[in-house]
Amino acid sequence: MAKHYDAVVIGAGPGGYQSALHLGISGMKTLLIDKGKERVGGTCLNEGCISSKAYLKAARYLLSAPSMSDFGIQMQLEGLDMKRLKEKTVLLKDELRSGVLWQLEQTGVEFLAGTARFLDPHTLDVSGETISFDKCIVATGSQAQALASLPLDGKRVLSSRELFELETLPASICIIGGGLIGCEFATFFSALGCEVTLIVRSSALLSSEDEDVSKVLLKAFKKRGIRVLTSATLQKAEVKEEGVELSVMTDVQEQISCELVLCATGRLPFTQLLETQNAGIECDAKGFICVNGTFQTSQKHIYAVGDCINTLAYAHTAYAEAKIAAHNILGGSLRENTHITPSAIFTDPEIASCGLGEKAAKAQGRDIEIKKAFFKTNAKAKIEGDDSGFAKLIICAQSGMILGASVVGVEATEIIHEMVLAVEKQVCYQEFKDIIHVHPSVSEIFRYL
Ligand SMILES: Cc1cc2nc3c(=O)[nH]c(=O)nc-3n(C[C@H](O)[C@H](O)[C@H](O)COP(=O)(O)OP(=O)(O)OC[C@H]3O[C@@H](n4cnc5c(N)ncnc54)[C@H](O)[C@@H]3O)c2cc1C
Repeated sequence: MAKHYDAVVIGAGPGGYQSALHLGISGMKTLLIDKGKERVGGTCLNEGCISSKAYLKAARYLLSAPSMSDFGIQMQLEGLDMKRLKEKTVLLKDELRSGVLWQLEQTGVEFLAGTARFLDPHTLDVSGETISFDKCIVATGSQAQALASLPLDGKRVLSSRELFELETLPASICIIGGGLIGCEFATFFSALGCEVTLIVRSSALLSSEDEDVSKVLLKAFKKRGIRVLTSATLQKAEVKEEGVELSVMTDVQEQISCELVLCATGRLPFTQLLETQNAGIECDAKGFICVNGTFQTSQKHIYAVGDCINTLAYAHTAYAEAKIAAHNILGGSLRENTHITPSAIFTDPEIASCGLGEKAAKAQGRDIEIKKAFFKTNAKAKIEGDDSGFAKLIICAQSGMILGASVVGVEATEIIHEMVLAVEKQVCYQEFKDIIHVHPSVSEIFRYL
């Protein structure tokens, strides 16, 4: 006989465990399903945000080493031990996962290990066990999209997931894709002294960001010796025992040899195993689950959040959506506000933006005013050792309201939150100018605007 729950959540990543916590706290009999307890935290904890940020921390130590001697610090740098970094990251992940498991336990959420698939709109099969439910939240996330011409082989051609398994450093790496994942890994490997080539299909890095923002990163990458090939297409790839030979078309035909290839060409929703058709849940051509503004699927009692729906693929987006979906299951009527969702790219320099970008505002024909200030005059940025980049506000010319912001520079992913608040609360530029900022601080950049 089927075991029955008030609410079932499929997938224990940020979207899933956050949903389950909200439902559990409210007293609903809630079941959280993922392939095993080690998957709790999902892509974010196991092979995404946490691993990549731990690795980038190591990169940042290395990048700041040359400037340490300017502060009188004498030390001998002997390079990076990948095995040790991997071990440190595993410990960090275990600790964070235990924290999530503890919270789930405290809120009375039950966990079931297995792969879920729908049998009908109110029943699931979870690796042989039948589960029935009143309400459901699907949060099955996404997976790396491989290139048809260069399949992942786990040896020479890797996705970000397998990169965290490396125990030795490659001498050279070719990264295909100039989005968040490609640019963060380019930062990491170049800091470690690897020869890095970045192959980017569009004409700029991070094509979703404004051009002036991505140009700052391009300049930093070039200065660090990263070879960036924009408007480039991969024409042919030959995987050999000792490395990979790539034939790439830019203005000219280029032959590139490298030890490893990282395929960072985007991620696709991971909904294949769900058999959504059995529940009458609609998906689009790419497999994203279709939802309305309250995160309800075509079945009103089933919601979907996170990377498996077509919104910004960030853990913080998944958290926000989970909160809204759970609230609505409990009788609320919240709607998405993901247009304010900040983007964050932990390159060096960092990049963050929120609200309406300059490019998007112009495309919409909005009458806007731009205010821009450079870190060159920011004392804290200079002390931190990187005064490159700027902060930019996009302001409505009529109302003076702050519509969006971009920051590229040191601590961008931290100081953006002030701007998220300004956009969310519809603050006017004149009001914002009166805020006193700590001196010296990186966020003081907003005082110069
Ligand atoms: C290298 C990398 C770096 C990133 N860095 C950042 C960052 O710095 N900041 C940020 O905000 N985001 C970052 N992201 C994105 C972030 O990881 C995702 O947006 C986030 O994990 C999405 O959460 P989710 O809950 O939707 O899905 P996921 O975290 O992918 O979790 C989905 C879970 O569902 C499970 N599942 C799938 N199908 C089934 C099924 N049928 N039955 C049972 N379980 C199932 C999976 O096992 C998985 O554990 C990064 C991603 C990558 C790859």
